[in-house]
Amino acid sequence: MTGLPTTDRVWCIRDCRVGLGTIRSKLPHTDLEFSAGRARLHEREAVEAVRDIIERVAPWVTAYLGPQLWSNPKTDNADDYELMNKKRYGRINGAASYKDPVIYIRLSQSMPDVLATAYHELFHIIDLLLSKEQRKMVARDVIRGRDYPGGYYQEIMERRARAFEYFALSIEEGRRNIIRGTAEEVFEEIYCGAFAAQLAAA
Ligand SMILES: [Zn+2]
Repeated sequence: MTGLPTTDRVWCIRDCRVGLGTIRSKLPHTDLEFSAGRARLHEREAVEAVRDIIERVAPWVTAYLGPQLWSNPKTDNADDYELMNKKRYGRINGAASYKDPVIYIRLSQSMPDVLATAYHELFHIIDLLLSKEQRKMVARDVIRGRDYPGGYYQEIMERRARAFEYFALSIEEGRRNIIRGTAEEVFEEIYCGAFAAQLAAA
């Protein structure tokens, strides 16, 4: 072993407040598990940044963030596999449960990747709340995207979530101007919090 610091901390953001548990804390979804992993210097800042993003974009969402995240793999989009509790688990970056609604994020990745995962999973939850018009505007753009092998990356819901994720990251890196009349108009409303404010007022 190299002696790199590891952690078993699992953070929970509920009602936009940050709480702390461990990988042994009970999760609302039994098909997901956190395991210990590398402790990153940016861990606390990343959790705070995700809290800020949730408060702005979708304050009604609960989030769990822990070192390594595993799910019972239904597709092959996991990085690697491990046997836990006699069940096969695949390592993933994030997950979203639409109904509760809850998102899960793996923290043993770079801080930009943590933010990317947060935007991606939050979009999966917001996607269901978009109007027909908004979804059409997004679909018009992503339909022109690359043909990916396998069903998963090709799914229209995944395409929409990735398109929002990349849009949000470009703003995180300093981009300011958006193109009206495209998916960016919808994405910007979500990113800046206008969409969440409309929902709250409705
Ligand atoms: Zn996704």
